[in-house]
Amino acid sequence: MNDDAVRRASELLLKGATMLQDACPDCNNPIYKLNDGAMRCAYCDKGVIRESSLNKAELKELHQDEDPIYQKIMSLKKQLQAEEDPDKIIKLAETIKKLQEIL
Ligand SMILES: [Zn+2]
Repeated sequence: MNDDAVRRASELLLKGATMLQDACPDCNNPIYKLNDGAMRCAYCDKGVIRESSLNKAELKELHQDEDPIYQKIMSLKKQLQAEEDPDKIIKLAETIKKLQEIL
């Protein structure tokens, strides 16, 4: 990003805009969502319109929710959070890692 884009981005953030995970189709920099719901690319300094209401990351997440391996990872992660035994923690972490590899 150049200095102007950084300045524009910080101005947007100061106005209460949030940085989205979506990238600008023109320059691939993050898009900012303004308070009024409009989306803007700080780098191109222009408004951006989403092609669909769901972005690719969101679609992937939805899809992952239906995946049994993904669900297993989520439940193992919950177990890991509650687990106190170091041996079991390592076992859980290894299992999660392996599952993520095949995901
Ligand atoms: Zn852009």
